Amino acid sequence: EIAPKESNVDVLIIGAGPAGLMAACWMAHLGVHARIIDKRNTKIVCGQADGLQCRSLEILDALGFADRVWKEANHMIEICMWNPDPATGQLHRSGRIPDTIVGLSRFQQIVLHQGRIERFFLDNIKKYSRGEIEVERGVLPEALEVDEQKVEDDAAYPVTVRLRALSDEEATPAQQLSGSKVPDGLFRSNLVYEDDEEDLLKKSQARAPGEVEVVHAKYVIGCDGARSWTRRALGLELEGEATDFIWGVIDIIPITDFPDIRMRCAIHSANDGSLMVIPRENRMVRLYIQLKEVTPDASGRADRSKITPELIFSAAQKIISPYKIDYEYCDWWTAYQIGQRVSPSFSAHSSRIFLTGDAVHTHSPKAGQGMNISMQDSFNLAWKVGLVVRGICPRTILPTYNDERRQVALELITFDHKFSALFSGRPAKDVMDAEGVSMEEFKQAFLRGNLFASGLSVDYGPSVLVAKPREGGGGQEEFDKRQKLATGLPIGMRFNSFKVLNQACARPWHFQERLRADGRFRVVLFAGNILDAAQKIRVDRWCSQLVAPGSFHLRATPKGDKSDSVVEVLTIHSAKRIETELLRDFPEVLHPFDEHTGWDYNKVFVDEESYHEGFGDAYTKYGVDREKGCVVAVRPDQYVGWIGELEDFEGLQGYFKGCLVLRGED
Ligand code: FAD
Repeated sequence: EIAPKESNVDVLIIGAGPAGLMAACWMAHLGVHARIIDKRNTKIVCGQADGLQCRSLEILDALGFADRVWKEANHMIEICMWNPDPATGQLHRSGRIPDTIVGLSRFQQIVLHQGRIERFFLDNIKKYSRGEIEVERGVLPEALEVDEQKVEDDAAYPVTVRLRALSDEEATPAQQLSGSKVPDGLFRSNLVYEDDEEDLLKKSQARAPGEVEVVHAKYVIGCDGARSWTRRALGLELEGEATDFIWGVIDIIPITDFPDIRMRCAIHSANDGSLMVIPRENRMVRLYIQLKEVTPDASGRADRSKITPELIFSAAQKIISPYKIDYEYCDWWTAYQIGQRVSPSFSAHSSRIFLTGDAVHTHSPKAGQGMNISMQDSFNLAWKVGLVVRGICPRTILPTYNDERRQVALELITFDHKFSALFSGRPAKDVMDAEGVSMEEFKQAFLRGNLFASGLSVDYGPSVLVAKPREGGGGQEEFDKRQKLATGLPIGMRFNSFKVLNQACARPWHFQERLRADGRFRVVLFAGNILDAAQKIRVDRWCSQLVAPGSFHLRATPKGDKSDSVVEVLTIHSAKRIETELLRDFPEVLHPFDEHTGWDYNKVFVDEESYHEGFGDAYTKYGVDREKGCVVAVRPDQYVGWIGELEDFEGLQGYFKGCLVLRGED
């Protein structure tokens, strides 16, 4: 037998769904040598996830393509609740709430199908990696080994993965399992229990025993979905339970007299179960329907051969009655069993292998969380891995991924558990009906749930990346003092966005637009009233410390790189724009000079009314003193890491000592 081909790679990504593509996207933006493989030979063409929440859109904007999503998507503005009128028993609209909490983000929840999102990712990856990173399809991993001796060695490639090339036929998922002509998603549903990878491997090995490549990787990221091969190779099992609720999903162009078909609706019928309406792009509507006709057997498994689009749709017709609903065009359908499960760990082998997305958490799709949380897992992880590979950050930042995201997954399943139960329950007949679901309670849960579902309530705990006191560790008072300097920027949460004007050209920017996903940490200097003589002295002193030889800013930057390549300093001041001058009033480090391109005009901003887009009032909303300002350190993923006074340069230096590789003497 010929020896298999061998190669080295910095990061190997297994699986090219939303989680894998997000990881690959970071690698492209960071210029890291990475490969991404998927066992399937095509990306998703229809169906699957479609809801995108505010935080995901902020992230896609930082990567440079939220505008494409925003334009094509259907925007969901209002949620309507329908249930039997207690007096007549007739289905009626009992409440309305805004779909996204007003004022939470510059984006609102939208829907666009997963295949389009994946398309935009692929384009972005191609652009930023200059064609270097491309999904390698029809490739299946068959063995994984880790050399434990080398896990702490920065230069080593301790993870070895054997990859097998599949034939076209092997890489094509079996469709139309039900005999229906419409594409179904059952092959990806949790109602499919067979371990199809084992079969696939055996078939492929028998056909072509030699078609393997041995890849040596510094890091491996397993993004291979709910039945993750990588997770199983690590011996990790999802923990939690499945419920008896089976739901069907169908994408149709409806013909109906139901008045709210273009609203997101939650419909509880008296006795026929519940239905959720999701208005989609291209006149389409998705219906999520509880299937009362199919229940799991004693072993907890449901017979999926009984599930057909006709069965799903007739259940919907019953729930929505007396309104009529029909369709001529159906795009896709599937069914799933609700369960909430989480992996005991999101990383293994001293942070050399990571798992993200459905590989580490599964739950019901109704709150539209899976794709979002999966992408956000990878958004949290991949810059850390990329910056460690590039020698910018130490390996000690890597465990924060498991700590930060496992916590979010646990919160997600608690949320989903409550939300699903309220959804799947029958509406209470009256206040005495203890087994029924109170519609008022449901509405309140929806309102509370909307904050969680937006992705904006995520609050990361203390670590080298988040300067918060550890529980029982002291330092609370000192922390409270620092947090008070910017009450609108909670440490551990994402940097909120308000409009500010560019000092040099007066153009309004949402400040978050300046926090691009390019792998740089940022220091936001709230310079306060720069025209006040005493304040000017404070700013000048802070800037001179920043450029002094021992400063983290210089020591973190590799020789020959631009001074802002690792940490970028952005300024927001509160003096009058027309009374201040960029070159006169602001020290050079705030708008660095380059002999080829001149001054940098994109780093100093002012909190002032714009000509055309109103007043952002950023100092008030960030809760920062307009005269004295403060200093905020921001992670490459836009989370607030540290806040302090301008005098506390040592504190800032300490924060970066913990998360950057600083060269030279202290
Ligand atoms: P996946 O999307 O499952 O991707 C895994 C990838 O890995 C696949 O491409 C697969 O081919 C590949 N792979 C698997 N095994 C291997 C292997 N051994 N080797 C190589 N490659 C492998 N989420 C939302 O956010 N909003 C919604 O509105 C929403 N609606 C949903 C509706 C339905 C009906 C369903 C079923 C799900 C919905 N979800 C929703 C959930 C969402 O689809 C998933 O959470 C999301 O796709 C998870 O992304 P992922 O990248 O982790 O996994």
